[in-house]
Amino acid sequence: MEVNRIAIKVSAAAERKIKSGHPWVFDQAVEKVSKPGKAGDLAIIYDRKTNKRLAVGLYDPASVIRIKVLSNSEAVQLNQQWFDGRIQGAFNLRNHFEKTFTNAYRILHGENDGFPGLIVDRYTDYAVIKIYSEIWIPYLDLIQTSLHKLHKFQGLLLRTSRLVQKQTKENSDVADATVLYGTIPDDIEFLEFGLKFKTNLRKGHKTGHFLDQRHNRHKISKLAKGKRVLDVFSYTGGFTVHALSGAAAEVSSLDVSKHALALAQENVQLNFKNPKHKIICGDAFETMEAMVRMGTNFDLVIIDPPSFAKRKEEIEIAKKKYAELVMLGVKLVVKQGILMMASCSSRITNDSFFDLVEEQVSRSGRKYRILEKTFHDIDHPISFPESSYLKGVYYGFE
Ligand code: SAH
Repeated sequence: MEVNRIAIKVSAAAERKIKSGHPWVFDQAVEKVSKPGKAGDLAIIYDRKTNKRLAVGLYDPASVIRIKVLSNSEAVQLNQQWFDGRIQGAFNLRNHFEKTFTNAYRILHGENDGFPGLIVDRYTDYAVIKIYSEIWIPYLDLIQTSLHKLHKFQGLLLRTSRLVQKQTKENSDVADATVLYGTIPDDIEFLEFGLKFKTNLRKGHKTGHFLDQRHNRHKISKLAKGKRVLDVFSYTGGFTVHALSGAAAEVSSLDVSKHALALAQENVQLNFKNPKHKIICGDAFETMEAMVRMGTNFDLVIIDPPSFAKRKEEIEIAKKKYAELVMLGVKLVVKQGILMMASCSSRITNDSFFDLVEEQVSRSGRKYRILEKTFHDIDHPISFPESSYLKGVYYGFE
């Protein structure tokens, strides 16, 4: 597909944002466009006053974020050298993972690594390229070539967001779960801090595994010794496996998805011979409530729910759900016990999340200390406020 260059002028306010390093220009901020653009065209933004080049980005006519900025300082030629440089730079920041026996991590974290709307996750000898915008479709070959220079990948898989799936219905070359290179087995086994996990890159949530919580799972392994642990919203057992590796007395994985729990069980069995592991299939709210009623308790409760606020209108309901989970979690934790509560909703700010958790915990009347607050793991860097989504907090009770 041929890529055009379009000259663009944007509002003064948008110019200020671009200069501050923000990677998004909204449709309303675009004032002049030299010609109609298509997804992936190179958008050159010129300064309103001086007419000098201010920034270079990718044009996205179907999105309210009309231009995704690639650089506000240098000229950009979207050739192999440019992709090699950026991708190698991002990879260099992550090559320490291997030292901790971890071979699944994010290589490119969207805007934060200079690739708005694109992520690349590595799972051992396979990589998943996930696009959230059509703008990257013209450049998929260049991206693949750069990835091959980093590592001899045996397979590269393309995943596309729901929006891109809709936009590309007619183009089977870029359908979700297309193998771009080599082969992708159904199950891929990888290591996280030396622990084995299996995942299905074609079907799993995100790109298969929640890589962003890796550091929290590791922390849980350090806290779990001798403890009875409840892993709420366990998915495929990320926290469960780490808790067992930290010599937990017993771990219960709770999730509404039978399929996720079956995979959690498989992941546990991959690592341990006679694991003290239980699975509980049910709604987290109802099940925790029933546990409270029955007087069940745990030494360590981990609550890592899905994003409850995907849209702005859902923020208030999401806050109520988080509050309810905290309230239930506090009731299930014994004296001297620990509660870990996380949120992955970018629409709920860090402060409002920490405040709401604090409010619920205070309301319980129990004495507590905040042991730690955590954010994204290091392979998910943040370069602008909107990209921050993950936060967690550890409460220790007296
Ligand atoms: N902690 C996990 C990731 C959690 S993803 C990890 O580290 O890998 C969110 C999980 O919540 C999914 O597995 C989904 O099936 C589950 N879920 C969503 N709504 C639920 C509900 N109401 N009750 C129980 N589980 C739920």
